[in-house]
Amino acid sequence: MKTILAIHTGGTISMSQNEKGEVVPNDDNPIADQQVILQGQINLITDEMFNLPSPHVTPAVMLAIKQRIMKAIDEGIDGVVITHGTDTLEETAYFLDLTLPNTIPVVVTGAMRSSNEIGSDGLYNFRNAILVAATDESYGKGVLVVMNDEIHTARYVTKTHTTNVATFRTPTFGPIGIVTQNKAKYFQELIRTEVADINRVVKGVFLIKAYAGMDGELFDAINQPTTNGLVIEGLGAGNLPPQTLPAIQRLLAKHIPIVLVSRCYNGVAQAIYDYEGGGIQLKKMGMILCQGLNGQKARIKLLVGLSDGKHGEKLAEFVRNAIS
Ligand code: ASP
Repeated sequence: MKTILAIHTGGTISMSQNEKGEVVPNDDNPIADQQVILQGQINLITDEMFNLPSPHVTPAVMLAIKQRIMKAIDEGIDGVVITHGTDTLEETAYFLDLTLPNTIPVVVTGAMRSSNEIGSDGLYNFRNAILVAATDESYGKGVLVVMNDEIHTARYVTKTHTTNVATFRTPTFGPIGIVTQNKAKYFQELIRTEVADINRVVKGVFLIKAYAGMDGELFDAINQPTTNGLVIEGLGAGNLPPQTLPAIQRLLAKHIPIVLVSRCYNGVAQAIYDYEGGGIQLKKMGMILCQGLNGQKARIKLLVGLSDGKHGEKLAEFVRNAIS
């Protein structure tokens, strides 16, 4: 019988709705002792590590979860399930994907409806996540996100709807598997990329979204000695308004790494256009074009790379190498 560690961190999955219809945290997690659903099949160990709404989750919290999982791996656990608020779930999941050794299944899940709401999805997602974590085929696939009967990679999944239970999607590539008849079925393989076994997290890594008519004001505002890195969600295939360029150049002159992704929901940022502010010029200026990650994921990747002490070409290589 497999032993699965469930790490609870908070979020809607552990909350309830009160008489006024407001969703509020609980002192006691309503799903933490629900292991009865798999009694006799799986030995479930529970760690109520945090009770945080996920907007309260920081990279320091992510690092603590990573360290807890490393300890469990040393102790011989067969798989890990993490319950988490959905707002920043994709960031924690990707942080873990980038920093864990990929030796056992690690599955992150959450809920869109709290524990006592009609149609609550928490217990169902939790049960499915445990099943996936206990499945032999889940080994070597990186950190997985299981929600609403789908299995997504932490690398590409994103929250796409504020309230719908089908909120987690993988743009461009799709989910890598489904949960059906209480079994995980996979139909895609993920190409592995480098893992960084970090034990600290740097601060001062920012994310800014580009828009029509943007100028350099925001970029100058973050041009501070405490700034370590920046991700820009650029326009289209990876372009920026020309008025942003002088301020961006001032950041690059200070050797602050700048990563460019696209603000588009699908596709990748590439050096295609050769006009002022076009991707070709941005690449020549020294910006790192990151393919396939959204802004918040690219920020996590840059933060992990910097926290691992990478800089220059090594950092660029680590951040850029998202697809192959
Ligand atoms: N605001 C909640 C959170 O992220 C949403 C959820 O868990 O679904 O904690």
